[in-house]
Amino acid sequence: MTSVESAPTKERWAFQWKELFEEVITSGLCTGCAGCVISCPHDVIGYNHEQGGYKPFHLEDALGLDNCVHGEKGCTSCTRACPRFRAWEPQANEHLFARDREPDEVAGIYSDIMLCRASDDMVHRMGQDGGLVSAILIWAMAEGYIDGALTSYLEGGEGSWRAKPGVATNRDEVLAGAGSRYTYSANTLAIDEARERGLSRLALVGMSCQSSVPPTMWSRKIGKIGKPIIFNIGLLCSKTFDDAIFEELFEAKYGLAREEMVKMNIKGVFQIWMRNGDFHEINLKECHAWTREGCNHCPDFAAEHADISTGGIGKDNDWTLTIVRTELGREILERMIADGSVVARPGDSDPGAIALMRKLAEKSRSRWPQWANPVVRVGLPEPKAKKAPARS
Ligand SMILES: Cc1cc2nc3c(=O)[nH]c(=O)nc-3n(C[C@H](O)[C@H](O)[C@H](O)COP(=O)(O)OP(=O)(O)OC[C@H]3O[C@@H](n4cnc5c(N)ncnc54)[C@H](O)[C@@H]3O)c2cc1C
Ligand code: SF4
Ligand code: SF4
Repeated sequence: MTSVESAPTKERWAFQWKELFEEVITSGLCTGCAGCVISCPHDVIGYNHEQGGYKPFHLEDALGLDNCVHGEKGCTSCTRACPRFRAWEPQANEHLFARDREPDEVAGIYSDIMLCRASDDMVHRMGQDGGLVSAILIWAMAEGYIDGALTSYLEGGEGSWRAKPGVATNRDEVLAGAGSRYTYSANTLAIDEARERGLSRLALVGMSCQSSVPPTMWSRKIGKIGKPIIFNIGLLCSKTFDDAIFEELFEAKYGLAREEMVKMNIKGVFQIWMRNGDFHEINLKECHAWTREGCNHCPDFAAEHADISTGGIGKDNDWTLTIVRTELGREILERMIADGSVVARPGDSDPGAIALMRKLAEKSRSRWPQWANPVVRVGLPEPKAKKAPARS
């Protein structure tokens, strides 16, 4: 068989919170993407935003915390929305690309890789890498593709470094959220605010785990909730950190106060720029103990189900590595290049970046447990056989 074997999709979908709780939430597969929370038509799934949390929980305990009255009556929305439940990967692939990925497509299915940067100096400066994500949002609003974006902001403003979900509807709001925070922000949760503000054509900006939410919902025919998200921008990601890393590592060991940090990035090391101009690099191995629990088994580095996935790997700091996956992603990017909103060069101009993307995609996939759905690990090199013990 050449392509990844898909699980049968014709089974009657009768899975509810009970199965989600057992197979995803308590098994360690849950990323905290909040797809289940926003999909629940009965509003009985809450979300723990606290440090060490980032997990959904059931708000009614009529049947215990591991079962749902509405689920027992036939509601299946939460499992339909979950991009870690059962055959989520082949189902989302089939929906988006009308095929599953081939084994060597470890970074997901794509049609092109480019390096891009915003032409507008301010957008470029405020962006994390090339400012492409912000440029796309501003352009797509002006051109009427979208009327808002589910994105991320800083709770309590600059210097807090606590990421929180929010909605952007214009250039100023987009730029207020530009840049990367390395703590988790379930941007999907901003959909309630978007609805309250009367928005109906949304872009989702999200980590890889979040960008699989809409295609998973669509493939499992969830209905109304998946409709407003029409454009999906993914951020390449190998992990996010618990908020405690600021106090317990950066401050306690290196004396770096979070309110004095002005920018951070991860490029093989954790890079931190301070207000007084100082620059610090902290070994990622040291940061490992603060990895958010939901990331430990995450197999998706390259945001494989986004329309466009974006990352910062590459030899030049101020360009965004841009993976074009869908027709919509291609259309938007081509129009932006044509009208000069974005400067682009071929991904081949930095072959090291593409090789590194592939390596990191394999590394993330290898975190997916052997006991979980095996299709996700397809394409990984066979584990090396252990040497037989030497005979005495
Ligand atoms: C937690 C995290 C980990 C990442 N890890 C990698 C990596 O390992 N390798 C790699 O190549 N790239 C990684 N990226 C992607 C990279 O940092 C840039 O986001 C990407 O290259 C786009 O840059 P830009 O200048 O085009 O985006 P910008 O124009 O700066 O826009 C960035 C967008 O991301 C949103 N955002 C920022 N922080 C968060 C957050 N915590 N959660 C959700 N949304 C957020 C912003 O609100 C904004 O809309 C990571 C990003 C994040 C947030
Ligand atoms: S992975 Fe996302 S959708 Fe699935 S249970 Fe966790 S928070 Fe819910
Ligand atoms: S590694 Fe990134 S994409 Fe994966 S669960 Fe963590 S935050 Fe989400």
